[in-house]
Amino acid sequence: MTQLSILLHPDPRLKKVCTQVTNIDDSIKKLCLDMIDTMYKYSGVGLAAPQVGILKRVVVMDCSEEGEKNPIILINPEIVWSSEENTKFEEGCLSIPEIREEIQRPSVVQVKFTDINGILEESNFEGLWSTCIQHEIDHLNGKLFIDYLGPIKRSFITKKMKKYKKDINKK
Ligand code: ZN
Repeated sequence: MTQLSILLHPDPRLKKVCTQVTNIDDSIKKLCLDMIDTMYKYSGVGLAAPQVGILKRVVVMDCSEEGEKNPIILINPEIVWSSEENTKFEEGCLSIPEIREEIQRPSVVQVKFTDINGILEESNFEGLWSTCIQHEIDHLNGKLFIDYLGPIKRSFITKKMKKYKKDINKK
């Protein structure tokens, strides 16, 4: 498996709406496995394909307790129902390192997706899993978690990230 490099905000590719996967061929299967590898390497709980520069509707995630591994692959995920009740979680993003902000989202969501074998599935997600899948599906629509913040806070973070990217390029 190959570890992929992660795009950092701001990057125009992180603002694009991704296309549906129509055929789960070997290249998609390899992408999924590489994304899982990459997510674990950076200790993330979720990763969306646009974060590695592939503008396709593919998400991997694993919000298991530490020490456990239960990765799931969601191809063309779509929220079909969300609860009226909301929960706040402190979110972070591998594309926006060192930034954490509390975001409010529906507590439970029902998601339709295709698995790596091409089988259509539907699952309910709650707790951290719910926040994570909503965060990842947002990525597929070119939306970042900082887009839920006010414009001042958001531009402050973007400025900070531009500096961060400059600094790591110097190293
Ligand atoms: Zn993210």
